[in-house]
Amino acid sequence: NNNRKPFVAGNWKMNGNKALVSDFLSNLPANNSVDVVICPPSLYLSNFDNAAFALGAQNVSEYASGAHTGETSLAMLSELGCTYVIVGHSERRENHGESNDIVASKVKAVIEAGLTPILCIGEPLEVRESGGVFDYVKAQLDAVANECGKQYISQSVIAYEPIWAIGTGKTASPEQAQEVHAFIRQELSKLDANAAQSVRLLYGGSVNAGNAHELFVQEDIDGGLIGGASLKVQDFTTICQAAS
Ligand code: PEP
Repeated sequence: NNNRKPFVAGNWKMNGNKALVSDFLSNLPANNSVDVVICPPSLYLSNFDNAAFALGAQNVSEYASGAHTGETSLAMLSELGCTYVIVGHSERRENHGESNDIVASKVKAVIEAGLTPILCIGEPLEVRESGGVFDYVKAQLDAVANECGKQYISQSVIAYEPIWAIGTGKTASPEQAQEVHAFIRQELSKLDANAAQSVRLLYGGSVNAGNAHELFVQEDIDGGLIGGASLKVQDFTTICQAAS
């Protein structure tokens, strides 16, 4: 009952090796009804020539080039065939000092380079328990809107990932996830009503082959950002099929 194409992205985080790359290249079936993206460690992007799916990076520098030891630029990612970049994953926000402002600068840089950001937002457990989820998520969205203007809505994919559900095996219930997704779409529609109807909103947080379907059938959940379960080609295949 909407015409948003389902979207499933796998975030390998700092996992995998050349053998896993080969496994995915050989065994992940093409799926024309879902946009499928694999986000391996950037070092392996060049091993994914001729993949039946799109490629994403897990992070990028907000700067174009220069004295930024250890960083990767958008031009480099682009040259390796990468078309998506995860921006503002909670692990980057929590462990690598990425503030809302830095995340916003990165979203802007990704869009200006012609790639698509997968913008991650989501609250920690104490915010969920104190009832502050909507305010928290709104502040994360507002930071990006202030930096990029409303155009970011039509050019991004947004992943709602409650931090308490990431890598914990504790999934948000379909109702909990849908409630926040509906709020996000409503907030976006205040800036651009049409773009808000077409932007893909992903759920992330302990999605697996068994629970993907009940999450993806929710009205405002258009797919998922998958961590642990994206490291097994069979599970990831099942999750992609659950989105179609
Ligand atoms: C993630 O890293 O974005 C994620 C959702 O991880 P997991 O699926 O392992 O919870």
